[in-house]
Amino acid sequence: MKPARFDYHAPASVDEAIALLARYGGEAKLLAGGQSLVPLLNFRLSRPAALVDLNRAAGLAYIHEAAGHVRIGAMTRQRAIEFSPVIRRHLPLLAEATTLIGHLPIRSRGTIGGSLAHADPSAEYPTALTALGGQVVVRGPRGERTLAAGELFQGYLTTTLAADEMLVEVRLPAMPDGAGFAFEEFSRRHGDFAIVGIAAIVVGHGGGRCTSARLVTAGAGPIPVRLRAAEEILEREGLSDAAVEAAARRAAELVAPPSDIHASADYRRNLTRVLTARALRRAITRLNLLNTLSPAPGERAG
Ligand SMILES: Cc1cc2nc3c(=O)[nH]c(=O)nc-3n(C[C@H](O)[C@H](O)[C@H](O)COP(=O)(O)OP(=O)(O)OC[C@H]3O[C@@H](n4cnc5c(N)ncnc54)[C@H](O)[C@@H]3O)c2cc1C
Repeated sequence: MKPARFDYHAPASVDEAIALLARYGGEAKLLAGGQSLVPLLNFRLSRPAALVDLNRAAGLAYIHEAAGHVRIGAMTRQRAIEFSPVIRRHLPLLAEATTLIGHLPIRSRGTIGGSLAHADPSAEYPTALTALGGQVVVRGPRGERTLAAGELFQGYLTTTLAADEMLVEVRLPAMPDGAGFAFEEFSRRHGDFAIVGIAAIVVGHGGGRCTSARLVTAGAGPIPVRLRAAEEILEREGLSDAAVEAAARRAAELVAPPSDIHASADYRRNLTRVLTARALRRAITRLNLLNTLSPAPGERAG
């Protein structure tokens, strides 16, 4: 099938793009990498009156680090994030999550802004944004606002962005030095969307202590779910095998996944348990390795 007819605009600036969105009164769509939007157009599941192509808008593709924060422009390609030394150094969880998105050609076109705005429940970036405690900067005719992940994602493929607003920047605090992390997911074939994914971050020094833990799902509900009660088990009981197993069991109780053609709710709940344990074990291995190489003040390696 071919898309329904639409007007096409390629604005040179963010202001021009926002003016076009306002002019079409909610009937225009932004085009970023096109990796989700173009299939929807081709199947005529989306029939916008106009496409506002961001690929020629200046100043939307960058990765900057300063004062412990990383700022990423909305049109930054997933591939640029995957290979960025700044991201590998300060946000290794985001680098790992990026390698799990589709295939390299998709990541060469797909953008971080497009992925977050599309809000697919199985996508890696909404989960990574939630796990990393990041924010998005949104601009529209009424000015600029900054939203945390919990304020952005509203439901299946739905965000709180108004039709005349666009996402311009993603802001992420750098991960603490020596944090253990892992992004684990299960999909039927390499490159498919995850049936369930889990992002894990653990921070701690010596003796299996855990000063802070983050566990966030993908594909286990309409939006990413932060598994706070499971994190608390680790913060209270440490990073022993028994605590990991208890946290993973608790994680499965905290999700209410859907059943669909890909998997039943029970299967997804079981995957949540299995992948939480797997992600935590890998994160803890990294944490131990990093802390052996660079022990905290007052601690000795080995
Ligand atoms: C075969 C295949 C496999 C894939 N596998 C995965 C996967 O495993 N994991 C995964 O996460 N993704 C996957 N994707 C999707 C891919 O990551 C997309 O790149 C991403 O979902 C959308 O980004 P985009 O830049 O292509 O956005 P587009 O497709 O151009 O746009 C998507 C939506 O976001 C809106 N939008 C775009 N930019 C902005 C902005 N700055 N502000 C506001 N709204 C905006 C558009 O109007 C549209 O509604 C896959 C895609 C394909 C084709």
